[in-house]
Amino acid sequence: MSPEKSSHFRVAIIGAGPAGSACALALVQRGVSNIVLIEASDFSQFCIGENIPPESLRLFQSLEIDQAFLREGHAPCYGSCSYWGSEKRGYNDHLLNPLGHGWHLDRRKFNQFLARQAQMRGVDLRINTMLKEVVTTASSAYELHLATHTAGISGHSQIYADFVIDASGSRAVFVRKCGIQKLRAEALICLARRFAIKDAQLEKNGLTHLEAVQHGWWYAANLPDKTLLLALYSDAETVKRLQLQQVHAWEAQLALAPHTHQLARSGKPLSTHILSYPAPVYCLDQLHGANWLAIGDAASACDPLTSQGIYKAISNAIAAADVIVNKREVHEFSHSIRTQYQQYLATCQHYYRLEQRWPEAPFWQKYHASVAPMQTPLLPHARPV
Ligand SMILES: Cc1cc2nc3c(=O)[nH]c(=O)nc-3n(C[C@H](O)[C@H](O)[C@H](O)COP(=O)(O)OP(=O)(O)OC[C@H]3O[C@@H](n4cnc5c(N)ncnc54)[C@H](O)[C@@H]3O)c2cc1C
Repeated sequence: MSPEKSSHFRVAIIGAGPAGSACALALVQRGVSNIVLIEASDFSQFCIGENIPPESLRLFQSLEIDQAFLREGHAPCYGSCSYWGSEKRGYNDHLLNPLGHGWHLDRRKFNQFLARQAQMRGVDLRINTMLKEVVTTASSAYELHLATHTAGISGHSQIYADFVIDASGSRAVFVRKCGIQKLRAEALICLARRFAIKDAQLEKNGLTHLEAVQHGWWYAANLPDKTLLLALYSDAETVKRLQLQQVHAWEAQLALAPHTHQLARSGKPLSTHILSYPAPVYCLDQLHGANWLAIGDAASACDPLTSQGIYKAISNAIAAADVIVNKREVHEFSHSIRTQYQQYLATCQHYYRLEQRWPEAPFWQKYHASVAPMQTPLLPHARPV
């Protein structure tokens, strides 16, 4: 290890997803300098999770990036339509929202945009760089061991930070190394495929599409690159039992979802396989400690049914910046994350219970059976992992 590669930072942020980059931006706004933003990827890969509500604009305004965001050309989303609880089509549109529409993001471009905005404001952005190890030093700073992979060349370095923000998403790399546990609820698996579409039906109405089926639910959105994203959400047992990761089984389920099937009728799949993403649901048993905080999905993750993950990540990030500059109490910060998480669980449970068409299906039985989380002080079905 060459000593000249070591550097000392006021704040190290692990992960340049929406939470990490927004936190860097909020810290700069509050006068904090000497921030490093560590990101394992180079923002070149397709990234799932694209639907954001109109209220996101308020967050972009508070970070002073709203005009730059609007110039990025993400697709407007005017609300959602769903077949949930019955065959009748229901709407939840943004017509009456004073902020206007939401967006279907090009998520790869969005993540890169946020990180570059932070970099332009003086944040030291290090891409292709992974946090590997954490050591607490006698001076109470953290020693962070990093591995870098660029153009086939690997390297190692270490940096020091007075304060660490874990924004590494569901990997929660920093907090896990500190021995913090996740309290888990049920988890979904997302099985997705993109289609090149000629007759972009969703593009015309700009709506997110949801359809409940026997073994879970379908999600569809037209992305800004003129592709259609179709995703089947189910639980791990059902996915395994019906081998839903196999193209033929996935297509067979699509054929049983009449409204979603209709959307893909003129589409050409862009891959020969199904992309699989875990969508775990959990909250950390500890959200802050000695000179560290967890935000975004590293702190808590909820069911993608809510489409609130990005909004939550950015709001957590702004709140964390207030804690670091002593504008907010850390206990109030973690209390609000826990309360928000319990509310998400209760909301999701309410919606799952509205769907009663397949009482014998294991998927729906599981989602109907869980105990309402707001009625008990601790997560009832939570288990440490
Ligand atoms: C299938 C699915 C669909 C979803 N759909 C939506 C949706 O439509 N709308 C919505 O709002 N939310 C959605 N979500 C949730 C949303 O994607 C997350 O809530 C959001 O990405 C959280 O942002 P984050 O910055 O906390 O974490 P992430 O976006 O996961 O970012 C974490 C970053 O940390 C980096 N990282 C990880 N490990 C390391 C390491 N060791 N060192 C350095 N960097 C590291 C990663 O590369 C990544 O860039 C969805 C989630 C899933 C799983």
